[in-house]
Amino acid sequence: MQQRMIIAGNWKMNVGPEQAGELALTLAASDATKAFLQAGGELVVCPPYLSIPIVVQRVRGSNMTVAAQNCHWEPNGAYTGEISATMLHTVGCTSTLVGHSEQRRDQRDTDQRVGARARAAARAGVQPIICLGETADEYGAGLTADVVAAQIDTIIEVAGVDSVRGALWAYEPRWAIGTGVTPTLEEIQSVHHLIRQRSRTNHGIDLPILYGGSVNGDNAAEILSLSDVNGALVGGASIQVAHFLSIVEHALHAFRAQGS
Ligand code: PEP
Repeated sequence: MQQRMIIAGNWKMNVGPEQAGELALTLAASDATKAFLQAGGELVVCPPYLSIPIVVQRVRGSNMTVAAQNCHWEPNGAYTGEISATMLHTVGCTSTLVGHSEQRRDQRDTDQRVGARARAAARAGVQPIICLGETADEYGAGLTADVVAAQIDTIIEVAGVDSVRGALWAYEPRWAIGTGVTPTLEEIQSVHHLIRQRSRTNHGIDLPILYGGSVNGDNAAEILSLSDVNGALVGGASIQVAHFLSIVEHALHAFRAQGS
């Protein structure tokens, strides 16, 4: 596939509109961001819903894009407390996470629902960023490959292959999120390779694959240099400007190295 390098910052439930607007301005104005974007890298930030409009406004003209952290599987209706992909599109969101492990953990999101969310996003013109990954128990039992393959198959079966053709995968082992612990580089490369192969052979698609789970300024360079890694989904470190920009700098080096 054509080389891509994508860094996405998941701000989780951490920044209200004021702080999010400032963070967005700082990132958009930074030299690291500009150099990365000029080189063809892609930089996405995922603010909480309420902060999306101000962030869209603050990054305008910078080539940074804004993603939501989730979307409903219906375009509208009696779903109190929910937000649809159609609404996200209206306020300038170009992509959305679906199936994040914190939604799977706290809201009991399932692969079927994740597939339906991805389909709704694609139909609304919003790119799905589809999160996959095994639990600690599944990892311990050596089931990572089986779990991830089954997630891919179910999500695509529900969403339909046309809905995921323009999507991104984000491989996020659930035990690595917010823990400071990551899989070995060999494990990351091997799961990413599996995701690529499964998507190609079973579904005829080739999507960029981000790695997520405790990425920081110290481990980003090694992770982003892996051949099947097309970027990172960054949580905790993404609201710390210096840490996030250091990841962006490493991404630029890795991207240049791929092209040389
Ligand atoms: C995430 O929430 O998607 C994530 C990867 O979090 P962290 O980087 O904090 O592990």
